[in-house]
Amino acid sequence: VAKRNIGNTFTIYSPEIDSSSQQNLSLLSELRSAIQLDQLRLFVQPKLALGQQHVVGVEALVRWEHPTRGFLVPDQFIPFAEQTGIIRLLTRWILNKSADLCADLIAHDIHLKVSVNISTHDLLDQDLPVKFADILTRHRVKTSSFCLEITESAIMNDPVRAQITLDRFSAMGVELSIDDFGTGYSSLAYLKRLPVSELKIDKSFVMDMQNNDDDRIIVKSTIDLGHNMGLRVVAEGVENAVVMDLLTSMGCDQAQGNYINNAIPAQQLIAWLADQYNTVS
Ligand code: C2E
Ligand code: MG
Ligand code: MG
Ligand code: MG
Repeated sequence: VAKRNIGNTFTIYSPEIDSSSQQNLSLLSELRSAIQLDQLRLFVQPKLALGQQHVVGVEALVRWEHPTRGFLVPDQFIPFAEQTGIIRLLTRWILNKSADLCADLIAHDIHLKVSVNISTHDLLDQDLPVKFADILTRHRVKTSSFCLEITESAIMNDPVRAQITLDRFSAMGVELSIDDFGTGYSSLAYLKRLPVSELKIDKSFVMDMQNNDDDRIIVKSTIDLGHNMGLRVVAEGVENAVVMDLLTSMGCDQAQGNYINNAIPAQQLIAWLADQYNTVS
């Protein structure tokens, strides 16, 4: 979204909406029915504790199996869902599916933390914490099994209202994480006041850190900063063993990335875990 100066007034110019509003109009109605028609898929990507090399959690990542456009990744529809507010329905769906997964894992005596991404609109939805509590009660899952990931920009969009929602989640016992850390414009003074327990370093700093001195310095400084603030630090976008070793030596707590595993359909997780631990031992 770019700002265009038209005369004396500033308008927000959104190229996606402008150039293909027709197409987006149909995408909007399709996205509404995607949930009813059961076209969304819950994928999960494992999070590994560095050091012990144990899977300690998963991040829930949505996919859309569209009947004609094919298999869509979040970047192709989440921004649009956010602009239109449809994200609230989508988030509800993901929280339900994630609670399902969590209950299934517990039934197999597997205890992992499930992380779910929530967006700007969700933070303005001050009923969401109560709705989430209902979902968890219905699935007989503890709030402490969940972590919600929020980007800095989602928080800074309306910091006052964001804080109210986040405080409510935190009071329920849900963990909170700052996602894509380092890419937004949040102030540390502000973040310090939030009930957050995790920082996720954005993959743009991690992916190429074995070749890039600046990235390495940024990652190391972020790990130290997070630890000094009493936070757990997670690196996303780990694509090779060199990066994984670097992160381990820097004291990073957890890693997530294609080197460990791509996102897989949620219903394959239990088999994947069994396979991991069989081949490791
Ligand atoms: P994110 O929360 O930062 O998630 C990490 C993204 O990085 C995921 O992309 C993941 O597949 C990708 N990734 C993980 N490891 C690697 C790696 O080693 N290399 C590379 N190049 N990429 C890696 P994905 O699934 O396409 O999701 C993109 C973004 O869409 C997410 O970024 C998140 O902001 C958003 N998103 C995904 N699912 C949801 C959802 O259910 N709700 C909301 N509100 N947003 C979602
Ligand atoms: Mg995330
Ligand atoms: Mg991220
Ligand atoms: Mg991201």
